[in-house]
Amino acid sequence: MAAAMEWVWANPSSVHRAGQEARHAVETARSATGRLLGVPAREITFTSSGTESIDLAIRGVLGTKPATGDGPPLIVTTKVEHAAVRDLVATLEARGEARVAWAPVRPGGCVDLDALAPLIALRPALVTIQWANNETGVVQPVAAIHALCSTAGVVFHCDGVQWIGKSPVTAPPCDLLSASPHKYHGPKGVGVLWARRGVRIRPTLVGTQESGRRAGTENVPGIVGAGIAAEEAMATPRGEPELRDLFERLVKEECPSAAVNASVDAPRLWNTSSIAFPRLEAEAMLVLLSERGVCASAGAACSSGSLEPSPVLLAMGVPEPLAHGAIRFSLSRETTRDEVERAARIVAACARTLGASTGEVIR
Ligand code: PLP
Repeated sequence: MAAAMEWVWANPSSVHRAGQEARHAVETARSATGRLLGVPAREITFTSSGTESIDLAIRGVLGTKPATGDGPPLIVTTKVEHAAVRDLVATLEARGEARVAWAPVRPGGCVDLDALAPLIALRPALVTIQWANNETGVVQPVAAIHALCSTAGVVFHCDGVQWIGKSPVTAPPCDLLSASPHKYHGPKGVGVLWARRGVRIRPTLVGTQESGRRAGTENVPGIVGAGIAAEEAMATPRGEPELRDLFERLVKEECPSAAVNASVDAPRLWNTSSIAFPRLEAEAMLVLLSERGVCASAGAACSSGSLEPSPVLLAMGVPEPLAHGAIRFSLSRETTRDEVERAARIVAACARTLGASTGEVIR
């Protein structure tokens, strides 16, 4: 990326040699990203973020589906989606641009396929469901959802931001797929949207770049970084859940009342762990952890100084007192066993300091 900033500074749409070098750099990154997603490179659009890719997928598909006699187009989704989906569809509904049907989620965090099937049979304009959850790591049954959508002739957008680059893909089980290179050691400020050939989207930024799907001069250094990140993600063996499981076991040994937010049989991403500590305010724990060198998140929005419990955990049926004390830990493919053991010791010590290591289990 530093070399691209220094040397590949021209506009990839320019015909001169420097411009064509920039074009080559962008297309090399597109090829690598296509291989990572298991799709033809020409079907990849670069955007500014996972959020923008999701916005382009959802509003882009809606733009091709005018309102019918039943009212604005229907979107089917869940309440465990990332805010990039959840808040967007809620806003579209509030503006009268869409109707939203929320498919129920089972207590373990997976969408209820029996309840989803009749919603898909209504032939909505779009189904949008994530591949893996950013707070709990719970993996949705995307192949089954895609099969239901294909049978009904319904477009399925999958938010793959947490899955892509961390777990392999041979052929995406969807029609549109969003990804974000900063989730797989790439840079921020660049996003990826794949649209299956034949799936129509109306651009939200109108112009000539990215085959007319997303206007604006490309972020060449960011795209170059996305390409290298894709290459490295493919070269690095898939992460195994052993270190995550070790971390959870060590924390629970020291804090018996702590609970992992996902049912034991739910398939989960190898790198994500959401642990609830009863009687604990997540914010206090995050500050203490940070002082001791552990960077974690609460999966919650900070509003007027108080942390609201995560809507994702509430939608999964996690009781509010537990959701208030839920901390989200992420491992990377570079995390070592030693780091996991040290982090677990620090987490236990902080929980003890805050008086949350003992007491009865709430669930
Ligand atoms: N979707 C999921 C599941 C995410 O985890 C995130 C980011 O955390 C996003 C969407 C948004 O991606 P970005 O940060 O690239 O806008």
